[in-house]
Amino acid sequence: MNSNQVVIGVDIGTTSTKAVIFEEDGRIRAMHAVEYPMLHPQPGWAEQDPHVLFSAVMQSIQGAIYKGGVSSEQVKAVGLSVAMHSLMLVDDHHRPLTNCIIWTDNRSNKQAEQLRASEKGMDIYKKTGTPIHPMSPLAKLMWFKEHMPHVFERTHKFISIKEYVLYQWFQQYVVDYSIASATGLFSLQTFDWDEEILQFLHIDRQQLSQLVPTTYTLQGMDKKWAEQLGISRNTPVVIGASDGVLANVGVGAVLPHEAAITIGTSGAVRTISSVPKTDERGRTFCYVLTENEWVVGGPTNNGGILLRWLRDEFGAQEKEVAKRLGIDPYDLLTQYAARVPAGAEGLLFLPFLSGERAPYWDAHARGTFFGISLQHKREHFIRAVMEGVCMSVFSVALAVRDVIGPLSEIRVSGGFAKSPFWRQMLCDMMGKELLVPETHEASALGAAALALYAQGDISSLQEVKSWLRISSRHEPNEQHTATYAELFDLYTRLYMKLKDEFPIISSFQRKYV
Ligand code: ADP
Repeated sequence: MNSNQVVIGVDIGTTSTKAVIFEEDGRIRAMHAVEYPMLHPQPGWAEQDPHVLFSAVMQSIQGAIYKGGVSSEQVKAVGLSVAMHSLMLVDDHHRPLTNCIIWTDNRSNKQAEQLRASEKGMDIYKKTGTPIHPMSPLAKLMWFKEHMPHVFERTHKFISIKEYVLYQWFQQYVVDYSIASATGLFSLQTFDWDEEILQFLHIDRQQLSQLVPTTYTLQGMDKKWAEQLGISRNTPVVIGASDGVLANVGVGAVLPHEAAITIGTSGAVRTISSVPKTDERGRTFCYVLTENEWVVGGPTNNGGILLRWLRDEFGAQEKEVAKRLGIDPYDLLTQYAARVPAGAEGLLFLPFLSGERAPYWDAHARGTFFGISLQHKREHFIRAVMEGVCMSVFSVALAVRDVIGPLSEIRVSGGFAKSPFWRQMLCDMMGKELLVPETHEASALGAAALALYAQGDISSLQEVKSWLRISSRHEPNEQHTATYAELFDLYTRLYMKLKDEFPIISSFQRKYV
C-alpha cells in the first residue's frame, strides 16, 4: 500500500457499526459510527432488523469516507469484523423470514441447558469449540425447529448478518471460517460443516453458506451499492473474521500464548493458540482466526457493568460530588475503593449479577457479598465489587491456562482500563505484568490488518504490534497477590457451595420480572 492509500475496517457490532479509515501504519484518519436499536419482542429475546443493520453499514462507510476526504482510488481494501453468533433465516427469494437474532438472545435457554447436560452436548462442544449456550446459532436452530417448524422448514438459508450484507453486495452466500467456528456447526478438525451436527438439526449443507478462509477477497460489488459507498466496484472486500478474534489482533496480542483481556460492559480473556484446543470441562471457547491460528478464551457477563450498577443504584451521592468537582463519578468511586487495603478487609463478592458464562456457564448464578461485618463501610463494598470483577476474569484466565498452557504477554483494554487503580488490581490478582496498548477500535484495526495481510501488503499480522504504542505497564505487588490468592480460593469454594442454591433464588426472582 502506498502512503496515499487507506484501508477501511468495518466493525459490525451489537449496538453500532463503525467504519474506520486507517493509514498504512494503523493510524486512524477518520471514523463514523451508526447506532441501531435492539428489539425485544418477548422477554429474553434480542433481535435487530437486518434492513436497519445493512443501512447502518452503508452509512458508516459513506460517513467515514466523507470525513476522511478519501477518493475511491485511495481505498486499498475493506475488511470486515462482525459480532459472533447472529442467526437469521431467509427464503428462496433471499428475503429475511426472521429478524437477525443476536448473541444476547436467550430464547433457547432450555434447549441449551438440556444439550449441555448431555454427553452429546460435550461431544458437539469438543468438535466445534463453541460452548453450548443460548448465544450459539446451534441452540437457536434447535429452538426454531421446536417452536417455529413452519418457518424452519421454509428456510432456504441459515445465515449470519455478515452473510446477509455480503449477499446484498455480491449476491454470494459465503461465510468465513471464523464466524462459522462460532456457530456450533463447524468442525475445528476438518474446517467443514459437521455432518453429524447437521443431521441432528435436520439441516442440509446446501442451506448453509460456502465456507471460505478469513483472507477470502470479494470483488465486483453490485454497481448500485458501490456508487452509494463511493468506492470502485473492484475494491477488494476481505471477508475478515469475528470481532472477538480480531480484537486480539487489534491490541497486538497476536503470537501464541499472548493474551488480551478486555473489561468493558462485559469482559473476556482471549489467547492465541497455534492449534485448535477445547477444554475437558467445557469452560472455554476456541474460534478460528486464520487457518493456522485459533483464539482460545472465555467471556464473562460481569465486567464493568457492575461498577455502573453500583454507581447508578447506590452512587447518587458520588454523582453529585463528582459533578461539583467536574470529574467522572467512576473516578470518585475508584478513589474511595483505594482507601481500603487489598482484599477489602475480608469482604468478598461473587459478581454474577447477570448469571455467568465462562468459566461456570451458569445462567442461574447470582451476586453474593460474603463476610460483611460492622467494620465494612461504603468503600469496602466498592472495592469488593471491583475485586469480584477481577476474580471472575482471573478464573477465566486460569481455565484458559489449563487448556493452552501459561500465558506470556497480557494486554488489557476496555472501559476499566481508564482506571490505573483497577488495572493494578487486575495485575495483582493475576500476579503477572500487564501492558496497556494505546488502542482504539481494536476490532476494526484487526479487520483492516487482516485485509492488508490478505492483499500481501503486510507479511504477517504481527506487524500490528509495531503500530501500537504501549502507554503503561503494571508490575504485580507481591503482597497483594498473596492476599488475593488466599481470597480467590475462598471465592471458588463459595461458588461451588452455592451452586445448587442459585437456581432456587433465580427461579424465585423470575416471579418479579
Ligand atoms: P462497552 O463494552 O459497552 O464498549 P466500555 O468499554 O466503554 O463499554 O466500558 C464501560 C465500563 O468501563 C463502565 O461500565 C465502567 O465500569 C468502566 N469505566 C469507564 N470509565 C471508567 C473509569 N474512569 N474508571 C473506572 N472504570 C471505568
